[in-house]
Amino acid sequence: MEKIAPSKGFKLKLAGMPDTSVIRLSRPATVGVSALDIPHIRPKLLVKEKQAVKTGTPLFHDKRDPDIRYVSPGTGPVKQIRFGPRRRLVEVVIALDGMDDFVEFDPVSPADLNSLSDPDLTDRLKQGGMWQTLRQLPSRDTADSRSTPPLIIVCLNGNDLFSPHPGRVLEDKIKPFEFGLAILQRFSDRVIVAARKSSMDRLEPVRHRITHQVADIYPAWDPGAILYHIKTKAEENQAWYIHVEGLIRMAQFLETGRYPVETLVTVTKGKDKKPHMITRLGAPVRLLAGNFSPESVITTGQLNGRKVDPDTHLGFFETTLNILPDAPDDEMFGFLRPGLNKPTVSKTFLSCLVNKEVQLDGTLHGEERACINCGYCETICPVDLMPSFIMKALHGDDIEEALQLGLLDCCRCGLCSFTCPSKIELTQILSLGMDTHHKDKQG
Ligand code: SF4
Ligand code: SF4
Repeated sequence: MEKIAPSKGFKLKLAGMPDTSVIRLSRPATVGVSALDIPHIRPKLLVKEKQAVKTGTPLFHDKRDPDIRYVSPGTGPVKQIRFGPRRRLVEVVIALDGMDDFVEFDPVSPADLNSLSDPDLTDRLKQGGMWQTLRQLPSRDTADSRSTPPLIIVCLNGNDLFSPHPGRVLEDKIKPFEFGLAILQRFSDRVIVAARKSSMDRLEPVRHRITHQVADIYPAWDPGAILYHIKTKAEENQAWYIHVEGLIRMAQFLETGRYPVETLVTVTKGKDKKPHMITRLGAPVRLLAGNFSPESVITTGQLNGRKVDPDTHLGFFETTLNILPDAPDDEMFGFLRPGLNKPTVSKTFLSCLVNKEVQLDGTLHGEERACINCGYCETICPVDLMPSFIMKALHGDDIEEALQLGLLDCCRCGLCSFTCPSKIELTQILSLGMDTHHKDKQG
């Protein structure tokens, strides 16, 4: 097993690590398919409000490849179709009926896998709403089925610090996991499996499958960060990746011919040790979050997630919610406070001297100012970028310079924005640069 231990990243101890016990939540009244966390797609709606749908009925497809479908995780009428600004699809909401009625596909057992041709396998995964679980670096777009990936990275840990423990995700699912790996081997000769060092305690049954153990420094387990540390050739920049939940669901779908609807999620709230929760894909945020104060901000990641409207549903790829206190930016006598509970990378607060867990909040602690060339963003970047230089190249519309400075290696981890004393949203600026470049390339 290869070990990856990057020297840079986020090493602070954060409060809120979920308990590894598991509870099953009650059946929600609604489920939603959110379009907000699906990068780059151009959704075309395929249903209308009040239309009855089965579990597995396509709700929208990607106009760039109409065979890639996003399907209903429940049975019942379409209750609401929500649009955002410029009629951008936000989510399709289904009111659940009592019983599930599934769109049925012919099941494929592991023994039958080789009887499916490559185009048949791809087509079945697209029709069944599973293809998009495969993503392609560096854009993190849906994998391009016309290409052959140089390698596929299977990530056992989610993107967030508090994503579900892979030992819990894999519990009782070793067979679908093995089947999932066999499916991936149909697309690439090189499939690697990476896990965080702190997860290894519960991964004994799949230990022989783990090829890379990564250090517990955020975001060492991100597929982009893993690729940065192992790549030897430029072609490998186009690697595909998949998270373990998606891999298991892909295998379950092929084996049963039915869209799998269960997911495991974590919710982080202050110092509470909350258990992992089994619920339905696209469960309502309010059901998962429980009671929270109106001043809270809900995100899908402590450092790089999206801000979530509590009246919507969990996104397609999302497995964690963080409920953070949103204190006012103007802290009375803030400059006199020692900051024992404030996270600090630049060692500005006394919290750097005490070895205790700190809690993030949604506060910026100041306004955006000009870059002071302090270099903090560079000293924390896990893929050795100089984010301030890339930002300046992008501000000058010099995409070639930004690319030469390694823009496409950015794994959007959020650390540069978090550490910047001038409050510059570097991650947002770099992500926009990458997305615009990807869109221009697609034409
Ligand atoms: S540039 Fe910022 S967001 Fe990108 S990898 Fe470096 S620290 Fe993370
Ligand atoms: S951390 Fe902020 S202020 Fe410091 S160099 Fe980077 S962008 Fe500039």
